[in-house]
Amino acid sequence: MTVNSKKNRKRGVDFSNVEIAFAGTSDADLKQAAWLFKMMNKKWLVTIGSQLGLTAFKMRLPINKIVEKTIFKQFCGGKTLLECQPTVDQLHKRNVLTILDYGAEGKSTEEAFNATMRETMRAVRFANENDSVPVISTKITGLGRFGLLEKVQTGVELTGVEKEEYIALFKRLNSICHVAYEHKVGIFIDAEESWIQDTIDYLARTMMERYNKEQVIIYNTFQLYRHDRLDFLKNSYELAKRKGYILGAKLVRGAYMDKENVRAEAQGYASPIQRDKASTDKDFNSAVKFCIDRYEEIAFCNASHNEKSAWYMLELIERNNLSKGHPHLNFCQLLGMSDHLSFNMAKAGFCVAKYVPYGPIADVVPYLIRRAKENAAVTGDMSRELGFIVKEMERRGLKK
Ligand SMILES: Cc1cc2nc3c(=O)[nH]c(=O)nc-3n(C[C@H](O)[C@H](O)[C@H](O)COP(=O)(O)OP(=O)(O)OC[C@H]3O[C@@H](n4cnc5c(N)ncnc54)[C@H](O)[C@@H]3O)c2cc1C
Repeated sequence: MTVNSKKNRKRGVDFSNVEIAFAGTSDADLKQAAWLFKMMNKKWLVTIGSQLGLTAFKMRLPINKIVEKTIFKQFCGGKTLLECQPTVDQLHKRNVLTILDYGAEGKSTEEAFNATMRETMRAVRFANENDSVPVISTKITGLGRFGLLEKVQTGVELTGVEKEEYIALFKRLNSICHVAYEHKVGIFIDAEESWIQDTIDYLARTMMERYNKEQVIIYNTFQLYRHDRLDFLKNSYELAKRKGYILGAKLVRGAYMDKENVRAEAQGYASPIQRDKASTDKDFNSAVKFCIDRYEEIAFCNASHNEKSAWYMLELIERNNLSKGHPHLNFCQLLGMSDHLSFNMAKAGFCVAKYVPYGPIADVVPYLIRRAKENAAVTGDMSRELGFIVKEMERRGLKK
């Protein structure tokens, strides 16, 4: 199915409209984005660049400025909350909301986990002061040790010190959720690797039970590249109903497929990943339908760059005659990607947000490397992102 048919345009959304998609991007920024996506199209360059970048940061080489002016500028809002304000305002002008995502990853000390908690709470207060920031995103591995989450999941008894660590992690998460509840700001809890995901699900469930009684504050994430997650979504909904809270669901396909498959093979267990992309797509769309059919009892977000899934949800909203701007029916894309989806849907009046990562440059490097690898994985001469940018440059008569 091509999404650029006349039928689509009639419905008020045209994903091929690059004029709307890049209305907020200057000629100079458009040219720079074209250059960046061309570079990221070269798989060998991304592989070498990622390794060199990581090494340079470890060795504290002065590459901050180069990173900040290129890939960081494309995909991040700023180094601090204050620096994110212009991006938040720019998005708001074009009817797009912001979901702030403090990019602390791979930390391992209690001091660093406390710092992430404090920054996330600051982000909640910042959201409270900005009408266009309804949600803050958080990663449980930014608040506690990966190995601890893994051990909790195995069911092996924790040592005394580990029990204290786990209690501290729980308290950090609860402090964030509590302040979010007081300010009526949402919290997205990201999904991560399957061998720590049961622990994350438990924590998310506990927070939903505490804070989602009157309205949805906490959202868990469902990775539909796992063959068990559609059932898990349905069970989560049943549980929420039984316990008297509203389910918050962020639907994603999942970001750790290679890692999951490699580990499963190395350790000799069946991979949790679907057998092919079509199965993932099918379950993703079924999850969208499941949530739409119960949209008054589930607040959800279609967090994806997949045009067909976005189109499918638009169709369901229309077919069921639902209000475009209902706060339970959300779309979300990452900053710097899929502007043709975000801005065209926002212009037509749907609830759309951009994930805006921010933080010190060295801290967001793993996130930036994931974005570069994702774009390098695209086969063919030109990535979809680059294709849209080139089309807009041609429309403006800019030299390629
Ligand atoms: C706002 C936002 C928030 C996100 N939050 C999270 C998060 O919390 N946790 C997380 O894990 N990811 C998260 N992601 C990333 C997401 O899971 C995907 O990796 C990414 O968005 C690409 O998938 P897609 O739906 O955009 O589209 P597509 O490009 O259509 O799908 C690509 C995805 O399909 C799946 N896939 C590809 N090949 C196969 C195959 N052979 N078999 C089975 N499945 C396959 C993989 O999940 C792959 O990433 C988020 C993405 C967005 C936009």
